[in-house]
Amino acid sequence: MTKFEYAPAPESRSIVSLRESYGLFINGEFGPGVDGRAFKTISPATEEVLAEVTEAGPADVDRAVTAARKAYEQTWSAMPGRERAKYLFRIARIIQERARELAVLESLDNGKPIRESRDVDIPLVAAHFFYHAGWADKLEYAGYGPAPRPLGVAGQVIPWNFPLLMLAWKIAPALACGNTVVLKPAETTPLTALAFAEICQQADLPPGVVNIVTGAGETGRALVEHPGIDKVAFTGSTEVGRQIARACAPTRKKVTLELGGKAANIVFEDAPVDQAVEGIVNGIFFNQGHVCCAGSRLLVQESVYSDVLASLRRRLTTLRLGDPLDKNTDVGAINSAAQLAKIRELSEVGEAEGAQRWSPPCELPVKGFWFPPTLFTGVSQAHRIAREEIFGPVLSVLTFRTPAEALEKANNTPYGLSAGVWTEKGSLILWMASRLRAGVVWANTFNKFDPTSPFGGYKESGYGREGGRHGLEAYLDV
Ligand code: NDP
Repeated sequence: MTKFEYAPAPESRSIVSLRESYGLFINGEFGPGVDGRAFKTISPATEEVLAEVTEAGPADVDRAVTAARKAYEQTWSAMPGRERAKYLFRIARIIQERARELAVLESLDNGKPIRESRDVDIPLVAAHFFYHAGWADKLEYAGYGPAPRPLGVAGQVIPWNFPLLMLAWKIAPALACGNTVVLKPAETTPLTALAFAEICQQADLPPGVVNIVTGAGETGRALVEHPGIDKVAFTGSTEVGRQIARACAPTRKKVTLELGGKAANIVFEDAPVDQAVEGIVNGIFFNQGHVCCAGSRLLVQESVYSDVLASLRRRLTTLRLGDPLDKNTDVGAINSAAQLAKIRELSEVGEAEGAQRWSPPCELPVKGFWFPPTLFTGVSQAHRIAREEIFGPVLSVLTFRTPAEALEKANNTPYGLSAGVWTEKGSLILWMASRLRAGVVWANTFNKFDPTSPFGGYKESGYGREGGRHGLEAYLDV
């Protein structure tokens, strides 16, 4: 096979104008934090410092919650839905207008390939605002009673894997339903949330309706534990989700948690191999595997195991790892040194427990945080790499003989966020889908998202749904 090289095709950074430092966005304005603390956000691909960002302390969180409360009582909750919709439509259109800038900024701060931020993240962000704008004046038809009321002030904490998309999942339904919000982005990826704050200014959103407080876990804790909020929405690790559930249990706060996953991607012997291999690759190597619903456990029917594995290995040798801003890049940088350490540690455990590790020949850049696409074969259900969320480009491969065995293995996990089924038999898809304990089941595809579809988990993957008509319930007093 002739190997042909791609010429570099870097997206220009010039469309992004980074400020040296960013304040907190409270009551419609950027300003300093009370105690003057700040932290740096870096590019995980180069370790270059991108900007300094204010660390919000409890006093800042309190100011943000007060601003959100005032905006809730004085403007937003009293505004007719059709007026709120106009703001959401305006935000959606500005996101589309600034799409290229937002995509470059996201790839710089997060490390994900520009192809993904440009073609997946940002279009979905706009779609979420368009979709929820449509609901704002139709809430009485959503099935939650004739005059559903908003909850009040929502405290929202999001992770670093889809920074702007998780913001959209949280803010769009909250505003459509008439709530105001205080949102904390992840420490390693605050920049697109701050760009979103500028978009709120550009859209003339009334002050205090959206507040962005940057900081680390302590800022998140101050927000979710603040007595002035009515609703907590969190996406992140199961461990932090548990802490939040505990903290909110004695309060009247309504809580939704979207936590980890260890999804099974199940390939039956009649599945078209090439199509399934594309789905496997998309399932685990999309966004470097930093995806809560990633197909991190591949279950292959024994009769086609060697064919599927041979095709998969061949396909992995064609993945291009490198500069996230290069339009040819398939696999970008790992988001942080801490996440890289976790991926390395679990991969070493996988080897020590007896699984066989394989990666395609792949040169890793010297600077930044990188991990090659990796397969583990000979994995048993007891192995930690089959049970724990690695949250990186690492696939554990297991086998099965019958549909019943596939089902049992797929459901043998404390998580239940998503699953994939690959077969030509419609009856088998329906049989599996009705028995898989997972919030989303994809058939002959994987990682497909749409604002009209509810998303959320069973078991330790959390509770509550985001998106679609079901997602509105989380922001309404029903
Ligand atoms: P966390 O759950 O710690 O972070 C998610 C968000 O919660 C971040 O904004 C974080 O702030 C914030 N936070 C941290 N501690 C608290 C707290 N006590 N109260 C309120 N908010 C808090 O995830 P990590 O980034 O530490 O990642 C660890 C692991 O979690 C990953 O390896 C992965 O396995 C899993 N994970 C799963 C995600 C999912 O979507 N299911 C998303 C992200 C991670 P800050 O980032 O500033 O610390």
